[in-house]
Amino acid sequence: MQINENFLKLRKNYLFADIAKKVEAYRAAHPEVRLIRLGIGDVTRPLPPAVVGALTKAAAEMGDSSTFRGYGPEQGYDFLREAIARHDFRSRGLDISADEIYVNDGAKSDTGNFGELFGPDNVVCLTDPIYPVYVDANVMAGRAGNFAETGWDRLVYAPCTAENGFRPALPEGKVDIIYLCYPNNPTGTTLSLDDLQLWVDYALRAGSIILFDAAYEAYIRTPGVPHSIYEAEGARRCAVEFRSFSKTAGFTGLRCGYTVVPRELTVKTAEGTKVSLGELWLRRQCTKFNGTAYVVQRAAEAVYSDEGRRQVRETVDYYMENARIMREALTSAGLQVFGGTDAPYLWVKTPAGEGSWPFFETLLSETGIVCTPGAGFGPAGKGYVRLTAFGNREDCCEAMERLGNWLAGTRKQEQNT
Ligand code: PLP
Repeated sequence: MQINENFLKLRKNYLFADIAKKVEAYRAAHPEVRLIRLGIGDVTRPLPPAVVGALTKAAAEMGDSSTFRGYGPEQGYDFLREAIARHDFRSRGLDISADEIYVNDGAKSDTGNFGELFGPDNVVCLTDPIYPVYVDANVMAGRAGNFAETGWDRLVYAPCTAENGFRPALPEGKVDIIYLCYPNNPTGTTLSLDDLQLWVDYALRAGSIILFDAAYEAYIRTPGVPHSIYEAEGARRCAVEFRSFSKTAGFTGLRCGYTVVPRELTVKTAEGTKVSLGELWLRRQCTKFNGTAYVVQRAAEAVYSDEGRRQVRETVDYYMENARIMREALTSAGLQVFGGTDAPYLWVKTPAGEGSWPFFETLLSETGIVCTPGAGFGPAGKGYVRLTAFGNREDCCEAMERLGNWLAGTRKQEQNT
C-alpha cells in the first residue's frame, strides 16, 4: 500500500489556527476588551429574502410527490445555467452559452479539483500573494515540488506588491497553468482589461491554460474594470472561469458556484490529438460529483430575479460602504492602503516595514482588532495585513476609531522621545 506522498508535503495550515490561538490567549489575558474581528473572509449579512423565498418554495416541492426531484444533472439544471449565461455574460455582451456552464457546490471545489485534468509535469504559475487553495491543490497533485524558504520550488510566483502596482509580470519562461484571481483575494486589487489581455495573449502564444477566479466579481464598482476574463480577446481559447454565489449573495453556508469551460478550449494529448477540456470536465464531474442540491440551485436562480438582484446589490453596497469607511480611516491615519474599492478586502502595508505577524500582534494587543497577516497568503504577503469589510457597520467604525487613536498616540510618543 502506498499513500499519495504529496499530501505529506503539505504545510500545516497554520494561518487561521495560529490566529485563533493568539486571539484566545489575548482574550484570556484581557477579558475586558471587546475584540473586533476584521480578519474573517466570511460574510455576515443574511441571505436575501428572494433567495429564502425560493429556497422555501423548492423545499415544499421536494416534499410533494408530484414535484419531488431525485438526482439532478451533474452539470446543473438548465434553469440555472440559462439564468447564469443570460445575466452574468450575455447581458455584458459576452458569448457564453448555458452548455458551457458547470454548476457546483462553490468555487473552492472546482478551483481545487480542476487541476485533475492536467498532468503532473505541467509548470504552474500563480500570482503572489494568493488564495491558498490553488497552491495546496497543486502540492497534492505533485506539481509544486518542495517547500523552501522562498516558497515551493516548482511553482512560478508572479509577485504583486506596492512596488509593481500589484501588476504581476508575465513569466519569463514557459508555464502551462496560470492561476489569476481578480478582484484579488487577499490584496483587493484588480487588473485592467489591457493587463488581462497581456496574460491571455501570453497563454495563447505559450499554449497555457488560465484558471481565472472571479469569486468577487460582484464587488467591482469602477467602470472599465473587467468582470470576466472573456472580455479579453481570445480568452475563450485559453481560459476557464470560476464564479461563486458565496460572496455575491451570502451563499457561504448554502454552497453554490459555477465554472465556465468554453467549447473552443482544447488541449493536446502527448500524440498531438486535440481534446476538449469541457468534455473532460463533464466526464470528471459525472464520475465524482452528483450535482448541487435542487433547492440550492433554485435559490441561486432567485439571485437573478429583479427582487434578488436589488437585494444582492444592497448587501454588496453595505459591505462596500464598510470598505470605503475603512479605506478613508486607514489612509487618514497615515497607513498605505490598497484594494477596498472593487473588492471587500483591504491590503494594508505595515508601518515602518514591520513583519505581518508582529504587526498582527501589536494591533491585537494595542487595539483589540484582529486582522490576517499577509505572510499567510504567500511570500509576497510579508509586510502587509488583510482587513475585510464583511463585518457589521458599528464594528467597522469602532475599529477605525480605535486604530486612529492608537496610531495618533504612538506618533505623539515618537515626537516626545
Ligand atoms: N476563490 C476565492 C478567491 C475565495 O476567496 C474563496 C473563498 O473565500 C473561494 C474561491 C471559495 O468560495 P466558495 O465559497 O464558492 O467555495
